[in-house]
Amino acid sequence: MKAVIFARVSTKDQEDGHSLDAQIQSCFEYAIKKEFKVVEQFKIVESSTASGRPEFSKMVDFVKKQGGQVAVLCYCVDRLQREFDEQYLELQKLIKIGKLEIHYIKDEFIEHKDMDSSAKFRKNLDVLLANDYRNKISDNVKRSNKKKLEEGTILGDSPLGYLNKPRIDKKKEKVEVYIDPERGYLVQKMLEDYATGLYSMEDLRIWAEKEGLRSKKNCKIAKSQIEKVLKNPFYYGYMQYNGLLYKHVHPTLITKELFDECQAVKQGRRKTKSKRTQKPFVLTGMLKCQHCGCAYSPELKKGRYVYMRPTKSRGDCNYCHHLNENTILSQIEEVLKGMQIPKNILVEISEELKKSSNKEHNHQIQESKKLQNQYEAIQNRIKKARELYLDDGFTKEEYNETMADLQVERQNMETRLQKLSKADDSFNQNVSTIFEIASRSHELFRSSDIEEKRRIIAMLFPNLSMNGDKLVFIMRKPFDMFLNKTDRLEWLRLVYVFRTDKKEEVINFGLSQVGNIRL
Ligand SMILES: [Zn+2]
Repeated sequence: MKAVIFARVSTKDQEDGHSLDAQIQSCFEYAIKKEFKVVEQFKIVESSTASGRPEFSKMVDFVKKQGGQVAVLCYCVDRLQREFDEQYLELQKLIKIGKLEIHYIKDEFIEHKDMDSSAKFRKNLDVLLANDYRNKISDNVKRSNKKKLEEGTILGDSPLGYLNKPRIDKKKEKVEVYIDPERGYLVQKMLEDYATGLYSMEDLRIWAEKEGLRSKKNCKIAKSQIEKVLKNPFYYGYMQYNGLLYKHVHPTLITKELFDECQAVKQGRRKTKSKRTQKPFVLTGMLKCQHCGCAYSPELKKGRYVYMRPTKSRGDCNYCHHLNENTILSQIEEVLKGMQIPKNILVEISEELKKSSNKEHNHQIQESKKLQNQYEAIQNRIKKARELYLDDGFTKEEYNETMADLQVERQNMETRLQKLSKADDSFNQNVSTIFEIASRSHELFRSSDIEEKRRIIAMLFPNLSMNGDKLVFIMRKPFDMFLNKTDRLEWLRLVYVFRTDKKEEVINFGLSQVGNIRL
C-alpha cells in the first residue's frame, strides 16, 4: 500500500530539538515493518502566528489524487486530533469510502472503513488518551536516545578522561563533552603506553596510582576499569551501544590505529611481558629459545653482570644455555649499525622528499576524489536497498543483511577517507621519521637507558630469539627494508618504494610508538 507520512510539532516541541525528525523516523520504520511504500511526507512546524493548515490541505489533496488505497502514517493521535475541522472531515470521508487508512503509530491504532462508527472511534480515542503515562515517557526516551546516538551525542556520562559540561536545562541543552584537563592526557598516555606492548594491565594500574589518576568519583583505578578504557572505542571517535557503533561528535584522544594496536596487544598478538616491580633489564620478557620456545629470564650476578638464563620450561633442550646479556646486546647493536645511512645521503633523501611532495599532493587529491565517489555510491546503494525493500524487491532478511554489509562498507570507507586526509599531511613526515629512526637507532640505542633501550627493541623487533649463541630476529616493517643496504642508489630507491608499493605501511606506521623515543 502507498503511505504518506504526516508529522507535526509545536514550537515548544521543536525547542526540544528532535521531535519532528524522530516522528518521521518512527513512521518510516513502521512503513518498513508493514511493507508500505512511502510516497510523500508532510511536515508541520506550528508557530504561534501561522497554523499548519495549508500543509494539511495539501496532504488531503495529495491523498485524493492517488490511485488506490493510501495509508496516512501519523506518530500519535494528538497530532491529527486537533485538526477537527473541515479538513479532518474530508479525511473521514476518504476513510468511509475505503480510500484511506490512518495509522497512529505510537498508539498502535488504525482508523479504517470497517470501523463501526465514529462513536467507536471516539471511545477508542479516549482509551488511547488515557494510556499509561509512564509508557509514553519511556517510549519518548527511547526515541530521543536513538536520535541522539544518530546525531553522535553521548547518552549519559562520558568515559574516564572526559567530562560532561553541566546542563541547567537538561531538556533544552545538548550534551557537550570535553577532555578532562586533569585526567585526559593521563588516559591518553596510558593507551599509548599499552600500545607499545611493553606494559601489562597491572603495570598500568601501578602507574596510574603513582601518577594520581583516579576515577571521576575520586577512587583508585582498578584493573577492570583500565580494561574498560582499553576497549572503549569512544577514545577514537565511536561509541558503542547494544553492540552497535555510532560515530560521535565529541573530541577524540587517540587514533583508530592506536586503538587497534591496543586490541592487538590485548589479544596477545603483540605481548611482551614485563613486571615493573622487578629490577628492569633490557631483555626482560623479550627473548626466547628458537628451538624449544622457552623464555630467557635475566639474573644479576655479583651485583653487576647480567645473565640471560633459559627457563627450560618446555623440557630439556640442547640449544639454550646461560648467556651474558652483552653478547646478545652487541648482536642487536650490530643489526642497528647495519641500518645506518651516511649523513650526506640523508640530506639528499630529504631534498628528494621535498621535490616529490608537490607531485604527491596532486595525487592525494585525486585519490580522495575517487574515494569520495565510492562513498557516495555506497550511500546510493543504501538508499536503493531501502527502496527495493519498500517495493517488495527484498525480503526482510535480505534487507537486513544488505544494510549490515553496506553500513560496514560505509564505515570502512570513512576510515579510509580519514586516513587519506591524514596521510596527506603525515606521509612525508612519516618517511623522514622512518629514515631518521633507521639511521640513528644504533646511536640512540647505545646512548640510552634501559627503559629506552626496551622501547627501541619493542619498536623495531616484534620477535627476538636465540639459536644457541646467535641472535635470530624479525624486523618490524618497514624497517626491514633498511637492512643490508650499502649503496646510495639503493637508499634513494627506498624513497620511491615507500611512495609506491609500501605506501600503506608508511601511512600506517604507528608514530605513537615513536612518540616515546627521543630522536
Ligand atoms: Zn631451548
